[in-house]
Amino acid sequence: MKIVITGGAGFIGGNLAHFLAQRPEVAEVRVVDDLSTGSKDNLAGLDADFTEGSVLDGALLDRVFAGADTIVHLAALPSVPRSVRDPLASHHANATGTLRVLEAARRAGGAQVIAASSSSVYGGNPRLPKHEGLRPLPLSPYAVSKLAAEAYLGAYHHCYGLPVLPFRFFNVYGPGQPAGHAYAAVVPAWISEVTAGRPVPVHGDGHQTRDFTYVGTVCRVLTRAALRRVVSAEPVNLAYGTRTSLLELAAELEAVLGTPVDLRHGPPRPGDVRHSHADNARLRSLFPEVEPVPLREGLRRTAEWLRHPAPRPGGA
Ligand code: NAD
Repeated sequence: MKIVITGGAGFIGGNLAHFLAQRPEVAEVRVVDDLSTGSKDNLAGLDADFTEGSVLDGALLDRVFAGADTIVHLAALPSVPRSVRDPLASHHANATGTLRVLEAARRAGGAQVIAASSSSVYGGNPRLPKHEGLRPLPLSPYAVSKLAAEAYLGAYHHCYGLPVLPFRFFNVYGPGQPAGHAYAAVVPAWISEVTAGRPVPVHGDGHQTRDFTYVGTVCRVLTRAALRRVVSAEPVNLAYGTRTSLLELAAELEAVLGTPVDLRHGPPRPGDVRHSHADNARLRSLFPEVEPVPLREGLRRTAEWLRHPAPRPGGA
């Protein structure tokens, strides 16, 4: 089968491209990416067809999607603080970009579209764990753009019969996720500060919780979804219900790195949610065969990659 990954030069997309390339059922992997946050280094050593360009370019999508069986749509500007600074840019890339992808998939004859939404859509809804039936209460322009994107997938399924699958990713971490930039995610940012012997900045009291998912686990689910052509107009949480506070994350990192973590508390960030904890019943019923990589093992592999960055065979 032929699979297109939008945003395939990014963190999750690069891992997925390596992962899919190892599957005998996958004859061809194509990547479209505008390299705004991603890098071709994430595709190093891979026999993937790469097209540089934006998902906002319909003619380009027509060329790349021709003959594809599945499109895994990961292209987005993926940061809450970035969206607070520039809401229009997030809306264009994430909401309009998804609409363009769906239109091109329809023109291409109805390829399956698997897309990345985000746990941030639950936002200010205080109920825990987060199950897909809860009312979304987005707190940031990023969350609104992701809610629009997943709603468009549902609408294209209902109106045009397009086979779709919107996933709500929670906090994905692992090899390939960059540290050292303004919007770096907590796991790589903290590991690089601790290994450099510097204190670690925490937004707020550190009791906020996140549901961390190792990127290899995410790739496994995405691959199963494409190979089995799983369809759902309703969003599916892609996390395993492991609720970890940032203080607990610091303790895990101390164990993995063998170094004390010196936390420095600052003010909470606007747009951040307080608690994140997935109900994974829907995920488990659709993908009972996938077992997640435990947090400590995932952190160990991530720290190893940050010490010795290298291509990631199989996203493992
Ligand atoms: P990333 O920034 O590494 O990857 C996104 C990729 O999309 C980049 O390679 C970027 O260059 C590309 N891109 C951006 N705008 C584009 C455009 N207009 N046209 C083509 N390419 C474009 O981020 P990631 O962490 O790999 O995230 C992948 C997806 O998962 C995103 O949709 C993100 O919103 C979603 N997500 C990620 C997390 C997480 O914890 N990493 C959590 C929730 C949702």
